[in-house]
Order: sequence, then structure tokens, then C-alpha cells
Amino acid sequence: MTAKDTLLVQVGREPHANHGVVNPPVYRASTILYPTLADYEEADRTPFSGTRYGRRGTPTTFALEEAVARLEGGYRSVAVPSGLAAITLTLMAFLKAGDHLLMVDTVYGPTRRFCDTVLKGFEVETTYYDPLADVAPLIRANTKLIFLESPGSLTFEVQDVAAVTAVARVRGIVSAIDNTWSAGLFFSPFEHGIDVSIQAATKYIVGHSDVMMGLITANEATWLRVKRATAFVGTAVSPDDCYLALRGLRTLSVRLARHQETALAIARWLARRAGIVHVRHPAFADCPGHAFWRRDFTGSNGLVSFVTEPASREGVAALLDGMRLFGLGASWGGYESLIIPFDPQPVRTATRWPYEGPCFRLHCGLEDADELIEDLDEGLKRLQARG
Ligand SMILES: *Cc1c(COP(=O)(O)O)cnc(C)c1O
Repeated sequence: MTAKDTLLVQVGREPHANHGVVNPPVYRASTILYPTLADYEEADRTPFSGTRYGRRGTPTTFALEEAVARLEGGYRSVAVPSGLAAITLTLMAFLKAGDHLLMVDTVYGPTRRFCDTVLKGFEVETTYYDPLADVAPLIRANTKLIFLESPGSLTFEVQDVAAVTAVARVRGIVSAIDNTWSAGLFFSPFEHGIDVSIQAATKYIVGHSDVMMGLITANEATWLRVKRATAFVGTAVSPDDCYLALRGLRTLSVRLARHQETALAIARWLARRAGIVHVRHPAFADCPGHAFWRRDFTGSNGLVSFVTEPASREGVAALLDGMRLFGLGASWGGYESLIIPFDPQPVRTATRWPYEGPCFRLHCGLEDADELIEDLDEGLKRLQARG
């Protein structure tokens, strides 16, 4: 694959500084002790370097933050308690009352909800934009942040990131991207002009469906603003969770290679199967923005969405209730396969979803691809039997 494979093995650990132990130890801490008054005062002058107080992180946190900063190609990272917190804290770091935000229409649903409720209450106005449209005409004098997510949630529209960041740069606007889809492995946002990149580490970085975590990575110009926002709000993450996230990182590229292979096999199978109206995958030529995916990405993950011919709720329930290998549940990025039904239109205001039938999103896990296809085929037969 790429040099990121080697990076993921090497980064964020120093065995010879830790008795030769391969993995960084879990440092639990609240209080940090200083030998002298001079040291105590010096710590006050450099609040964001080294161990200062448990809430600011311990050496385990810093090892993870360093690893993700290198993976994403940014200056420094901040670990926060969830992917959603990484998003909301980034928005709060750059926006205040009277400001205007440009938010991609295909954004993760809870991000949209935060804009429409909390940010609105703080008098920040949000305009949603079509992921494939030029953002320049939507920029106002008070636009302070352009937020991207590419590929989009559920429907995977791919954005021309470099075009958006070029416009942002000229107008002095900060650009931030939710880069969770690529896991930091398949897309390097800072090479495309992004200022701040967000990972819901809960997904592929942790990779085992057992930890909630977000990482915000910033360039040198914006890092202090992000760090201050998280530190002043008071978020803290458990060093045990940081340990698990670091452990997940070590196998990220082999897991994703398998997720990718299985998802593509299933997507190709779905595209040939009767009763399927549309298969949505960024590697497919009919995915909106596919050319940008080909230009900018080095791979794809375990997600694929599809639309069936119109069906009843009973048909959809028959499909979902009888699945043997695909679990019915939110989130993704673990080793297991998942399926959820979804309806994109209620969470879109600037774009229109052109299909009528029920939509399903798959997360293709590490099981045998043929067995997953069999499970899906039986499910589709149940749906088609009910009509
Ligand atoms: C899951 C997800 C999040 C939120 O992450 P949590 O850790 O669940 O809060 C944010 N963005 C995207 C694209 C996601 O898929």
C-alpha cells in the first residue's frame, strides 16, 4: 500500500524509554507534581506542552495524538471524548455570535443537528451547500468557517476539497473536514489545503466497537485555537481508551484492505442483482464526485449503500429481522458487518435524493465475503417476497 503502513507501526511509541516494552504504557493521572516553584511557574507559561494536569492528557494521550497527527499529516492533534465532540469543539473554536458557517449538505446527521440547535441558539447562522457545487457564491463577509465531509455520510458524494480550500484561503476563511471515512489512511487532507481534520476514532482507528473517541488534527496556524477550545471547555479522555485507540492504529491498514476488498465485492454483486435500483460507492463511476475520489484517494473502506425497488415496511423488516451475519446497529468501523435502513431526504436541504425505494447502508466487516453475500441475498429474497 503506502508509506503510511510503516508509519502506523512505528509512530507514537518509544520502547527503549519504557523498559523495552513494545506498547506505550497506560499512564493514569490527575495531579502532576513539580519538584520546585520554578518548575511549577514554568508549567504555567507552557500549558500545552508536556504533562500539566490529567485533564490535559498523560503520556498515553500524547502518544496517540502524535500518531494521529502524523497519520493525518497535520501539526498536532487533540484527543476528545467522541467523534461528535471533535466536530462540535472545532465549530466552537472558530465561530462566535454573528458569524456565518458553510456546512456541506451531506454531513453526518448529528453535526447538522448541532448547527440547527446549539449553534443557532448562539446566533451562528448555517448555510448548507451542495457537495458538488461551487461554494464561492455562498460566502458572506461574516463567513468564518467552511466545513466539509467527503465522502458524505450515508450517500458518499465526494467533494473537490482543493477547490473549496482554495476559495477559503483567498477569503481568509478556515476550512475543516470530517475525514472519518478515509480513517486518515486513504486521504491526506492537509495536502489539499485543509486547516483542521477530524477523525471519529470510534470507527476504524479503534476498530473493535468498544471505545468512543475523536481526534482533532490542526495545522500550525490553527492548532492553538483548537487546543484552547478543548482545554477551556474541559474535555478529557481516558488513558485506557487512548491505549486501545493506539492498539487499533497498529492494524488499521490490514483491516481496511480487507474491509475495502469485501465492500467492493458486495457492491459489484449488488449492482448485478435483480431488484436493486442503485448501488452507491465512491469507487463506482456513477457516484457523484467519483472523479475527485479517483484523483485524491488511495482506497475505499467497508461502507456501501444501496436502494431497492419500492417496498413495504413489512418487506424492509423481513429483510432486516432475519439477517444472520449483518447486525442491525448504528456506527461502523468495527470488525463486524452491520446494516441500517436510512432515508437521506429528511437530512438534506440543499440537495435532492433522486431515488424512491428504501435505502440501506452496509458496513462490510471481516467475515467471509461469500457468506455475507449469501446473507444479503436471502434478505433481499425476504424483502421481495413481501413486496
Ligand atoms: C460516527 C461518526 C461521527 C461521530 O463519531 P462518534 O464517536 O460516534 O461521536 C462523526 N462523523 C462521522 C462521519 C461519523 O461516521
